[in-house]
Amino acid sequence: MSSTDSNPPKLDIKYTQIFINNDWHKAVKGKTFPVINPSTGEEICQVEEATRADVDKAVEAARKAFDVESPWRKLEPAARGNLMRKFAQLLRRDIDYLSKLETLNNGKPVGNSEGDIYSAANCIDYYAGWTDKIVGETIPGAHDQVIFTRHEPIGVCGQIIPWNFPIAMMAWKLGPALACGNVIILKPAEQTPLTALYCASLIKEAGFPPGVVNIIPGDGPECGHAIAAHEHIDKVAFTGSVEVGKKVQEAAAKSNLKRVSLELGGKSPLIICEDADIDYAAEVAHMALFFNAAQTCTAASRTYVHAKIYDKFIAKSIELAQQRIVGDPFDSNTVQGPQINESQFDKILGYIESGKKDGAKLECGGERAGSKGYFIKPTIFSDVKDDMQIAREEIFGPIMSVLKFDSYDDVIKRANDSTFGLAAGVITNDLTRSMMFAQRLQAGTVWVNTYHSVSNQAPFGGFKQSGHGRELGKYGLESYYEVKTVVVKLV
Ligand code: NAD
Repeated sequence: MSSTDSNPPKLDIKYTQIFINNDWHKAVKGKTFPVINPSTGEEICQVEEATRADVDKAVEAARKAFDVESPWRKLEPAARGNLMRKFAQLLRRDIDYLSKLETLNNGKPVGNSEGDIYSAANCIDYYAGWTDKIVGETIPGAHDQVIFTRHEPIGVCGQIIPWNFPIAMMAWKLGPALACGNVIILKPAEQTPLTALYCASLIKEAGFPPGVVNIIPGDGPECGHAIAAHEHIDKVAFTGSVEVGKKVQEAAAKSNLKRVSLELGGKSPLIICEDADIDYAAEVAHMALFFNAAQTCTAASRTYVHAKIYDKFIAKSIELAQQRIVGDPFDSNTVQGPQINESQFDKILGYIESGKKDGAKLECGGERAGSKGYFIKPTIFSDVKDDMQIAREEIFGPIMSVLKFDSYDDVIKRANDSTFGLAAGVITNDLTRSMMFAQRLQAGTVWVNTYHSVSNQAPFGGFKQSGHGRELGKYGLESYYEVKTVVVKLV
């Protein structure tokens, strides 16, 4: 374990206001909120807090930018792509500053922040390539008819994102929406607004017309709800908890029945078969759970291990967890930074107590690391049973729950016995068995002999209460266009 004493570099925080119409604004109600460094628990700065009145202002700007005669609507699709590429290029140009800012605000190791920024830039580039390829179909009709479809932008899209991958989640939302020609009101999570606000300045520098992208920091119940419930926002895309996802869908239904896409939580199973190489399997399982301090919606938080290799797997996993370097995210040796804030920190420690109370065996960790900030030691519970709280609820913290199995039919039933269905993994060298798992596991993504492998060109999303709609890839575009059928009679 490295020191949890963080020595953040001195960073000039350039943008703390609300970004509407390519300009910076103070909050209408004059309120601000503190942004906290999770490595120290100390305030970084105050940010203007958008409320309903600011959402109204952003909607007015966005509607104007979406007017049929607006510069944005009149841009050639390829020119739209060029603006997006320019934005991606600016993200890469400023990666040094942006990655430090992301680490200061989110707490992830600075190397991971760099990875997130490259991946965000690649995502924007990927969707830039789609701008002139979003085509409809010609459809056979009667002999005197021509029928075809147009894929048209939906309009003003509200986008509400979480704190675990602030820049990457922003790119996943902006990319497909801009490619289809929409305009955007994006609300970053109140815990992590700083990099999104800096990116707003890059949007302007790239040359997007005013009002096309508006970035409004604010909280969930007031600002997020105002977006979900707004009568003049045409679509809302949300990533976060199931509980809030349901509220967003309800607010959309009760207002103007805006389109909704949801990327929610998970309790993803990783199944380790008896033929697996134990060292390899333990390494995959370790990364599958602990990556990003386990603040990942696809975290493999149920590790099912075949009885024949169970004890050896546990021994290797403890070794890896104890070697994991938790500490100052600005130290290049660190692989795990702090949890995002005090309430997540307390919630996770509460789950550790619940695991102990329910009779799971605490193998390592189980307590905070250091005395400042929100660091938690990598924790492993063995002898976990399916009905324990730690095996059923999304923890979003570094707690690996290991469960034993000895029948493949049985473990599939157990893996599928969840209200979630975001991801699943299997480690095996048996091709037929891997295909059987791929076919029968109820999850939006099934990884075989790998985990957390996400590509811009492959769809990502959940079965069951893990959400609906898909992000990334060609499927990701479908959440951002309306299909119009045009029927022409040849008179
Ligand atoms: P959350 O769902 O409360 O927050 C996500 C986003 O939704 C934030 O931008 C927030 O401001 C906004 N929001 C909150 N209430 C809202 C409302 N009523 N209407 C509209 N928007 C609203 O998540 P959280 O409280 O930050 O974290 C709680 C749990 O959510 C975590 O423990 C984890 O289980 C889960 N989570 C999942 C993801 C994911 O990627 N799937 C990301 C973050 C958190």
